[in-house]
Amino acid sequence: MALIVQKYGGTSVGSVERIQAVAEKVRADHENGHRMVITVSAMSGETNRLIGLARQLNDAPALREMDVLVSTGEQVTIALLCMALQKLGMRSRSYTGGQVAIETDSAHGKARIKRIDEHRLQADLNEGVIVVVAGFQGVDEHSNITTLGRGGSDTTAVALAAALKADECQIYTDVDGVYTTDPRVVAEARRLNVITFEEMIEMASQGSKVLQIRAVEFAGKYGVPLRVKSSFVDGPGTLITLEDDEQMEKPVVSGIAFNRDEAKLTIRGIPDQPGVAAQVLGSISDANIEIDVIVQNVAKDNSASITFTVNRNDLPQAEALLRSIAAELGAEEVTADSKIAKVAIVGVGMRSHAGVAARMFECLAEEGINIQLITTSEIKIAVVIDERYLELAVRALHAKYDLERLR
Ligand code: ASP
Ligand code: MG
Repeated sequence: MALIVQKYGGTSVGSVERIQAVAEKVRADHENGHRMVITVSAMSGETNRLIGLARQLNDAPALREMDVLVSTGEQVTIALLCMALQKLGMRSRSYTGGQVAIETDSAHGKARIKRIDEHRLQADLNEGVIVVVAGFQGVDEHSNITTLGRGGSDTTAVALAAALKADECQIYTDVDGVYTTDPRVVAEARRLNVITFEEMIEMASQGSKVLQIRAVEFAGKYGVPLRVKSSFVDGPGTLITLEDDEQMEKPVVSGIAFNRDEAKLTIRGIPDQPGVAAQVLGSISDANIEIDVIVQNVAKDNSASITFTVNRNDLPQAEALLRSIAAELGAEEVTADSKIAKVAIVGVGMRSHAGVAARMFECLAEEGINIQLITTSEIKIAVVIDERYLELAVRALHAKYDLERLR
């Protein structure tokens, strides 16, 4: 008899019919002898609707009140799911984050879970009750309602699984697993049976949107086996797990992630001296703008240039800051380009293979795609290219690494 935590996302509980379908699915697993803890998101679109209401009244609402507001979406779905389960003859009980209690810090809108009191849940489980917990929310030490950031229900599920020492945490969503790349771009993309936490974190940080990255980090840290499954079609989904040393052959590349969320800035003709990079990039990060890829070059005349990427939304502010620094330093020029995309190949097998980067660059060269920037980690190689060639690059790389072949 296993203890399973399941999380159902917004589309999975988006209507009364879908909530009924979830209840039937939960009943089937419960009748198979499992102890069940269910976390749900708000009905799809609900969190955005609530944020929209707030904006109509106040363009800078207090974060504390925002949390009181947006946490209601999940309170609706826990109650409705319990009603559906009870109608099917199951014993079930709903809990808000505060009732559990899921204790967080006081950072409204992006709170972090500190501790979960699992006693009430455990007592229910011992009596055969199906426990339904609101995702995305918690409570701080002063009893204020907090929320964990958009997509935070994934983190709630993982944290509950860790606290209850669950056998598996299953994330039910509208896709049937983690794919080698986005099937909307590459029709031959296939579902992975297994992917490691590390790979999943890289995939998520490079643009794959299947799971909230914090949830994967949390699961990796506590060794919670995580499985992504579809609420609409049956299947094994994708298991996200620790690296399995017995696995005979690790794929060099497990997946290709990409995003169009970044923009590139370059400052040219600055002194090649200690402290200059700190001054340039410090002015950007002091404004709380996240910098991703950074490249510095020194020209023949000993002047330096720095190129870096930021989120596209931050481009106007970052460019203004860079122009004022450029004036201070007497730089030659500042250029900005928002029509870029980042493509990354990810795989733990890279650790033990040479020539992976060269092969990637060769593949892009064959397609006539120019590489603007390169960044690597132990298990990832990412390049920044012209946005126009993004889909071509992803398709070519997918074919190059034989990712369409079933393993
Ligand atoms: N309802 C919240 C959101 O839309 C949390 C979640 O869905 O995980 O971001
Ligand atoms: Mg969601």
